Amino acid sequence: MSDEKKNAKEKNFDDSKYSTDTHLIYGKHVSDKWDYSHHVTAPISSSTTFRLDSVERGALGFVNWAESSKHEDEPPIFIYDRLGEPNKDMLEENLAMIEKGEMGVAFASGMGAISGALGVLTKSGDEIIAHTTLYGCTISLFLNWYPRYNIKVNQVDLTNPDIIKSIVNENTKVVYFETPANPNLDIIDISKIREVVDEVNENRNDEKKIKIVVDNTFATPYCQRPLEHGADFVIHSLTKGIGGFGTDIGGMVVGKKEYRDRLLLYRKDFGGVLSPRNAWSILTYGLPSLAIRQRRQIASAQILAEKLEKHPKVKFVNYPGLKDFKFYELAQKLMVDFDGNFAPGHLIYFGLVGKDENESKELGKKMMNYVADNAYTMTLAVSLGHTRTLVEHPASMTHSVVPTEELSKYGLHAGGVRIAVGLENAGDIWTDLEDALNIL
Ligand SMILES: *Cc1c(COP(=O)(O)O)cnc(C)c1O
Repeated sequence: MSDEKKNAKEKNFDDSKYSTDTHLIYGKHVSDKWDYSHHVTAPISSSTTFRLDSVERGALGFVNWAESSKHEDEPPIFIYDRLGEPNKDMLEENLAMIEKGEMGVAFASGMGAISGALGVLTKSGDEIIAHTTLYGCTISLFLNWYPRYNIKVNQVDLTNPDIIKSIVNENTKVVYFETPANPNLDIIDISKIREVVDEVNENRNDEKKIKIVVDNTFATPYCQRPLEHGADFVIHSLTKGIGGFGTDIGGMVVGKKEYRDRLLLYRKDFGGVLSPRNAWSILTYGLPSLAIRQRRQIASAQILAEKLEKHPKVKFVNYPGLKDFKFYELAQKLMVDFDGNFAPGHLIYFGLVGKDENESKELGKKMMNYVADNAYTMTLAVSLGHTRTLVEHPASMTHSVVPTEELSKYGLHAGGVRIAVGLENAGDIWTDLEDALNIL
């Protein structure tokens, strides 16, 4: 930055010979107020393109970009937003650091990040092993698009990691899962998956080695850092807990340095670029407030989950912080905050009673409509990690890609309700939740 400023100053423009309407565009041309090194809060950088000073510097910019890991200690030469710019680059550095990764590449959305990671790891003829329960649009990506690219996805129950051995073959390139999974909160033993994949990888050369990709959106890095447990890549929808306020959509892939150039190339050519303004908000508001928001949300989620367990209209409650949750012990191993305390997250999935699937599904809808009309502290809406408590019925909303008769195959309950706890007073949330359950 300072070199650029010096160069422009040396040119010694005479401002006075230009008209005011030109001044509206160029201002002082180079301002001393534009100083990245000394801003306390990063300025929003909103420039699609960057001044290159000379052909030589422009050429060097392209070379440095194509081999970014070899030039990371040099001052950046920004070229064009789609290749990189200050706000996203800063966000990438910060989030990679928190996830204990060597690098991050930001995308326009969580789905953009998933497409990017899987896009660089697979080609036609390859196969992916994925968990049965996944975010609805990820299932849609696998069902609606990957068959067209001749990429086969085998969805199996990865809560039993050994299952990999029974379906893996020489075309398998990726093991993909969320933990906790959306929406049923299945927990997958990342280090066990690592052991099994290592066994399979033993006889494979580097290019053929299977990679483990974990979508860590539900936990956020506050509750879990999958790379520490042996994952190769972490995916985030920044739209959720990391963004934190429900104002900006974004995504990120974090992993090893050697993949940065490929991910940047993918992003450049497929075009799923994170907007600098979104990057700025997440950098300025989302990340700095992550820990304090998560702590409050986890404390409230624990209270609500314990109350839900005792309610007669509730058949089961999945919450990693409940002692009788199927994956309680595993959750304690995987989900810990930066200080090593158990951090079971802010999402709860519970099932409503009902004599069969249809009745449960109807109760789910009835409850949601009651919440939409009557609740003050709960909003019927998809998404999560918001300041407000958001509640939804996956079978008829986020996971409607799955037909009712196949719900159980995808680990879903017809009367399942997902709550993403916000920052309200927990007692107030319970008041609304209890009212909505009592009308069923
Ligand atoms: C929301 C979500 C995504 C997709 O993120 P977008 O930012 O909406 O594209 C992916 N995975 C999980 C687990 C999610 O909850």
